[in-house]
Amino acid sequence: MKEYRMLINGQWVDSASGERFPSYNPYTEEAWATIPQAAESDVDRAVQAAREAYRTVWSKTNGLERARLMMKLADLLEAEAERLAELETADNGKVIRESLKNMKQAARYYRFFAGYADKIYGEVIPMDQTHLFDYTMREPIGTVALITPWNSPISILANKLAPALAAGNTVVIKPSEHASVTTLEFGELVRKAGFPDGVVNIVTGDGTVGNFLTRHPGIGKISFTGGSATGKIIARNASENLIPCLLELGGKSPNIIFADADLDKALAGAFAGVFGGAGQTCIAGSRLLVQRPVYEQVVERMMERIRAVRLGNPMDPATDMGPLANKPHYERVLSMIRTGEAEGATVAIGGKTGYERGLEKGWFVEPTLFVDVNQRMTIAREEVFGPVLCILPFDDEEEAVAMANDSKYGLASGIWTRDISRAHRIARRMECGQVWVNTYRINAAQVPFGGVKQSGYGRERGMHTLMEYTVVKNVMVDLSV
Ligand code: NAD
Repeated sequence: MKEYRMLINGQWVDSASGERFPSYNPYTEEAWATIPQAAESDVDRAVQAAREAYRTVWSKTNGLERARLMMKLADLLEAEAERLAELETADNGKVIRESLKNMKQAARYYRFFAGYADKIYGEVIPMDQTHLFDYTMREPIGTVALITPWNSPISILANKLAPALAAGNTVVIKPSEHASVTTLEFGELVRKAGFPDGVVNIVTGDGTVGNFLTRHPGIGKISFTGGSATGKIIARNASENLIPCLLELGGKSPNIIFADADLDKALAGAFAGVFGGAGQTCIAGSRLLVQRPVYEQVVERMMERIRAVRLGNPMDPATDMGPLANKPHYERVLSMIRTGEAEGATVAIGGKTGYERGLEKGWFVEPTLFVDVNQRMTIAREEVFGPVLCILPFDDEEEAVAMANDSKYGLASGIWTRDISRAHRIARRMECGQVWVNTYRINAAQVPFGGVKQSGYGRERGMHTLMEYTVVKNVMVDLSV
């Protein structure tokens, strides 16, 4: 059993209380590592270290040097990608090829934002009064709190840490209590890359630690990825110190297939869009809206695809889908399936645990397809965050748009059609932050991502996110003698 420590001011430390909690492997169901549960005093030490590092070193480090360190970090991350992917799969059960892809994607994010580190600047503003000289500067916020979930710890962290560092901030990170290991291992890469002590700090533990961190008066901004309910608590905590937040929350994203779509492509995209990561992705296209003439065909073909899914050891490259990441979540997903049935939806295929299917261990839930669903059912409204797809028919464009937007969430959507005008027309009407047309679930360092409604606010990735980690200062000078 490996014992991990937290990273505070460049040192690996235990929590002040000495308290630890286990990390479980969702395939073996066994504890395999222990993690410190930070005390409030540990959080305070981490914030103070980050603030001190900002004041004494990082705010005086130029963009070129910040970029050099970030490039080094990207190299180290890539060199360690396989080892880290294995650890992440042991921690959250994601199939190994997906974990490996996440590591490489994270390295790409550090490289992308390193390129910006020496290109963040303000503007000169022409004034009515010609004796006035006015300019803006884009300054770092100072110390930012980064809080991440368990589904893709390293790539979600990169969405936040890469722009935060490029813009010149210092950080305190808190990974999920269900998958902290790779973030702590990553901390060692930060040290090896040569970042000054205190620029990157990592505290671990459950929501109480996140609570200490988000209420700490030394924090200038909170960047959070997780559930909408937690997002609301964090926004309330932020209001105590009147600091801004970036909130990447849940979703119930619609994937709309029109009868004129390339059905092979649409089915492949809709399938991967919801069952990738065993459905544990915020952008899961968990509501499949299908135009009535092809509805039966799509149901049949989706069932065929689901039947072929191999559940098993997520370390085995032949496995299609691993277990769910942790036991409470596994129980929650099963209970949502039961709610779907109780409310009158029909499980067309799936719905069982791995045990019921004959597997000997692991928190597996079969990929599940619900039919006979209506928009009022819990299964069609609430995020499952598991391998569960609802399929609903529609007649025309108007109905598809109305159904798609009838959600408290607004993260992503997909449109499958050969009619290019229709695709753009609908993209314009979608109430969400990301629309994919004839593709789904593709992310890139260059492309801004985020939600509207209860899926959160603020944008990650792309140059837009750099603005999230800077603040504008205006300077006005009277040039008259
Ligand atoms: P969660 O909200 O339970 O936890 C996320 C993080 O918040 C964890 O580190 C947790 O310890 C911390 N936390 C919990 N209570 C807190 C509090 N009171 N104050 C501060 N921090 C607290 O989410 P989860 O179960 O880890 O992840 C699943 C959720 O994340 C899903 O809803 C999913 O949609 C969402 N998610 C969103 C995106 C996105 O980019 N929009 C990406 C991945 C996951």
